[in-house]
Amino acid sequence: MTAYPSIKTFLHLVLACFAFVIAAVSVSATAAVNPGGEISYDINVHIDPVTRMIEGQSIINVTRPRELNIVLGQQFEVTQALIDGHPLGRSRRWSNQSHAWQIPYDLLPQRQIEIHWRGKLSALDATLDHEQTLDRPIPVSGEAGTFLSTGSGWYPRIVGGLARYEVKLSLPSGQRGLVAGRLLEESESEQGYQAHFEFPFPAEGITLMAGPYEIETDVFIGVKGESIQLRTYFHPQLSGLSRDYIEAVKRYLKLYELWIGSYPFTEFSVVSSPTPTGFGMPTLTYLGINVLQLPFIRDTSLGHEVLHNWWGNGVYPDYRSGNWSEGLTTFMADYAYKEQEGSEAAREMRLGWLRDFAALEPGQDAPLSAFTSRTHGASKIVGYNKSAMFFFMLRDHLGEAVFNQSLQGLWKTQRFKVTSWQHLQQMFEIVSGQNLQPFFTQWLDRAGAPAIIITAVENTQTDSGYALSVTLEQSSPTYQLSVPVAIESEEGTEIHQLDLQQNQQTFTLAVQSKPISVTLDPDLRLFRQLAPGEAPPILREVMVNPTTKTILLSENCEVRHIAETLAGRLQRREPKTVSASKQLSTAPTLVIGLQHEIDAWLEAKNLSPRPEVVSEKGSAQAWTLAHSNGASLAIISAQDAASLEALIRPLPHYGRQSYIVFEGRQAMDRGTWPMRVQRVRVE
Ligand SMILES: [Zn+2]
Repeated sequence: MTAYPSIKTFLHLVLACFAFVIAAVSVSATAAVNPGGEISYDINVHIDPVTRMIEGQSIINVTRPRELNIVLGQQFEVTQALIDGHPLGRSRRWSNQSHAWQIPYDLLPQRQIEIHWRGKLSALDATLDHEQTLDRPIPVSGEAGTFLSTGSGWYPRIVGGLARYEVKLSLPSGQRGLVAGRLLEESESEQGYQAHFEFPFPAEGITLMAGPYEIETDVFIGVKGESIQLRTYFHPQLSGLSRDYIEAVKRYLKLYELWIGSYPFTEFSVVSSPTPTGFGMPTLTYLGINVLQLPFIRDTSLGHEVLHNWWGNGVYPDYRSGNWSEGLTTFMADYAYKEQEGSEAAREMRLGWLRDFAALEPGQDAPLSAFTSRTHGASKIVGYNKSAMFFFMLRDHLGEAVFNQSLQGLWKTQRFKVTSWQHLQQMFEIVSGQNLQPFFTQWLDRAGAPAIIITAVENTQTDSGYALSVTLEQSSPTYQLSVPVAIESEEGTEIHQLDLQQNQQTFTLAVQSKPISVTLDPDLRLFRQLAPGEAPPILREVMVNPTTKTILLSENCEVRHIAETLAGRLQRREPKTVSASKQLSTAPTLVIGLQHEIDAWLEAKNLSPRPEVVSEKGSAQAWTLAHSNGASLAIISAQDAASLEALIRPLPHYGRQSYIVFEGRQAMDRGTWPMRVQRVRVE
């Protein structure tokens, strides 16, 4: 089990999931509208995970004339390649090249290509993490698991086109496997396992998984009375979890069928992976063994992956105009579960999104329409979080009923079609009867977010009560915003929506009883740049900001070396070190040292001493503080070299914290400094 990274990696992973097909074939997906043809594959494949040999035959039918580019991975040998019964010709010059056939446009109404291939799959490397698995699209096999992704070139594939398929899979006894789709037939004997699948919708590719699985099955009756086959394909050590997963899938299917519309497929399976991945594909999710063992996965990631059968694998995003499916899925899964928990939990999640966004440098931000899939931390903050907040604001703007009807309309009209942000806009406009162009344009096409502040508050007594004038200012370029402000009076608190369209505007509000204070967007319902005092500093800032400076306090060689490694791991680059004696710049600064060195340095720099929550606790501590010049600092303090070294692995996973205390590698206590809302007292 030492092959697996610590549990913290998985906490990180939970946030990192996405629809696999999207990532694996983004190249073909850009051209995925099937410009000129219907494609179908009929594949027969035998895999032996012990010898790692694969042998396959594929018949590809194309029923509308088009130019065809067919590719197959370089490790395979082609034993037969025919088009309409004639030789297809050479596919490569050298044996270390991938196979590629180019078939020019031809007017023939139907073409049939037959390719037989065989070869050795790469060895499964269970030490890879999620991102490494993504980075290496190679077909891997071993007794613990086989994973052949679309992008790995495991079957001869026509580039740039959606395709239907049938796959007949055969494996040695003890192994079981699947591809996305409907299971038509399955048999098992001493000779081995055989299964026949069909995917009758246009799909972006075929991913095959196998392993020493134990299968449990159940049936869910959907809203239209249709049967949906539920299965777990689990490694033997997970068999005790099957029931819980199946029950959780049933809950999610019910939730989303009622919310959006009927489930588009005939099955859903939860499949375990020997590597710590988290992928969603149509009809299934493929999650690492260790991930599946985490109790909260059933309550969060699983629902997210089930929902991708509607958004992502049911309605396909159009990459040319940006991927909306991660944001909508995050909003209707991860965020929706927080709303079910309560308004406080939901607000906390929105605060997290805004805080993460505030920790970005302007250059790291990009418009939402430029997000295609998750490539690094910064793009996720936009592609998942800002996008989810976009849908949250849209629901606020339209009301829940219209918002939900629009989603249901989208589902009815766009199923299995490549769908752009513009299609979404049109649907929301048709259902609401509103022009949403300004709303979509300002949130999708601009990077950044508006910064809004209260610049003046004046109160005058009138005959009927009070006239309270509130002046708001927003940064350029201006947004059209409905800004919630809370007016606190002796009678209680009332929320007013102020329509802010210009850089500066004054609003006069009639208030019955004497106002006490005005608070800007206390519930965090707007995607905005938090003011410096508003956003509590978190550790992530020194991790993602490319201008971050690092100060290594220790003179001791060993400690210094460990500190440097830790800084490099946190920043994912060579740290830029500056001298401890230099004056602090306005750039974010990471300071690492032993406890006594840290305390002495804080005092010498006239900075606040170690906060109480991290004092005299654990073997190492990290916390953030804001310098009076506006720069944010992150301090890492350890009692000795070993305690510092123990942070190298876990600490990078705690970017969202303002402070954290470790005992060895174990996080004992952590949290964020409270947010300070913009509140102005009425004189
Ligand atoms: Zn996702």
